[in-house]
Amino acid sequence: MSLSEERAAHLSPETVVVAAGRPERSHDAPVNPPIVLSSTYFGTGPLGDRDRGYGRYSNPTWDPFEEALGELEGAALPGLLYASGLAAVSSALSLVPAGGVVVMPSHSYSGSLVMAAELADKGFLELRTVDIADTEAVKEQLAPQGRKAADMLWLESPTNPMLGIADMRELCGAAHLAGAVVVTDNTFSTPLVQQPLALGSDVVLHSVTKYLAGHSDVVLGALVTSNRELRDMLLHHRIIHGGIAGPFEAWLALRGLRTLALRIERSQASAAVLAERLSTHPRVDSIRYPGLDTDPGHQRAKAQMKGFGSILCIQVAGDSNRSGAEAADALVRALELWIPATSLGGVESLIERRRRHEAEPKSVPDNLVRLSVGIENSEDLWADLDQALKSLDS
Ligand SMILES: *Cc1c(COP(=O)(O)O)cnc(C)c1O
Repeated sequence: MSLSEERAAHLSPETVVVAAGRPERSHDAPVNPPIVLSSTYFGTGPLGDRDRGYGRYSNPTWDPFEEALGELEGAALPGLLYASGLAAVSSALSLVPAGGVVVMPSHSYSGSLVMAAELADKGFLELRTVDIADTEAVKEQLAPQGRKAADMLWLESPTNPMLGIADMRELCGAAHLAGAVVVTDNTFSTPLVQQPLALGSDVVLHSVTKYLAGHSDVVLGALVTSNRELRDMLLHHRIIHGGIAGPFEAWLALRGLRTLALRIERSQASAAVLAERLSTHPRVDSIRYPGLDTDPGHQRAKAQMKGFGSILCIQVAGDSNRSGAEAADALVRALELWIPATSLGGVESLIERRRRHEAEPKSVPDNLVRLSVGIENSEDLWADLDQALKSLDS
């Protein structure tokens, strides 16, 4: 990192995404970090913790991204890059002791829920799922009378895909009183919109696949913490379980990160415009977007986020010919600019009826469509949505 720590501490996030993780400023050095393709490193002496040693222990191409992400999340230590968001989930869940209790939002990302539920089925941990927006219910599950207190609180806010908003500060405090470690999946918000460590979380998780890399061309994950002991355990897990990032993917993630601030600014502004218009459309039964002042999570989101993100979800109204789910499928098919695909956080706008996935919790309504707003012109995005919604009536 070429910036002095003192100067870096005063830079705004919009600058950090551009300036962090640069090579040293020596004459004729490249301004971008190189991609290092090597599975092993020269070495003859005793191998210490900080040595590169072998390609599963470390790779110089990971470092700039890990430094940049650590800085953006306001962490005292660099982040850890993983092969995927789910590899990071696996590493984070490894912090739970055998038979420990995990409290998780019932509308967490489906992969995280499936992983925790499978570990619970095998008896490795006890899983308690809760409505994360219901603060009292979460507290009750963290430290129930006469039952084991929680070892981990898993936070996701806004939740995927229901966009429920947790009272993060309050829940982190309650979790720590119960003796639990808090992990927050910050994929939807990115550190530019929400900083979980500052709100009390111990570990922050990202599917780097989404906004951070931002171009729908890599699958990667990351964890960030300021706690040295936790980071050592997570790093050990990454080395032993092997969920490491490829150097090319790591390089693409840093390249994507350079434009994060601009992408977020544009997509958030467009999401707000589209949410307003969709909220009064007769074909839209209901909408969730924390930026709408009628949204149940609006006040909380305002208090703990900088902006409201670029994901919204709608429930499509059925009619005498079609169920809501059928109407939702027809809407997705009628779009020409929006891309019908899973995932989110890319430059291109994506749309999906979530229940087309078998693993999606049944409590997600079957006519619910999730929209990930990209960086296209917002009027073009609206025109396409409008024509597709109108086509449902013809
Ligand atoms: C996509 C996603 C994940 C999983 O990440 P992968 O990179 O697909 O493994 C985890 N959490 C959230 C909120 C996600 O959107």
